[in-house]
Amino acid sequence: MGWRVVVDEVLCQGHEVCEAEAPGVFEVGTDHKVRILRAEPDAAERSAVELAVKYCPTHALKIVDD
Ligand code: SF4
Repeated sequence: MGWRVVVDEVLCQGHEVCEAEAPGVFEVGTDHKVRILRAEPDAAERSAVELAVKYCPTHALKIVDD
């Protein structure tokens, strides 16, 4: 079973918590919006992505298990 991370770009306010938690997956640009570098991260990155989802101040991120 795979999994992926999705962002609600309307909710994202560029707080960069996600990039701090999982810099290999998230990057916040000068426009203060997150970019998903890899929508289907490696299993080893799951815990870091979970922390990003948990601590995103605007709840803009979620993990989808396919
Ligand atoms: S932590 Fe949330 S609000 Fe901040 S850049 Fe990441 S997705 Fe956007």
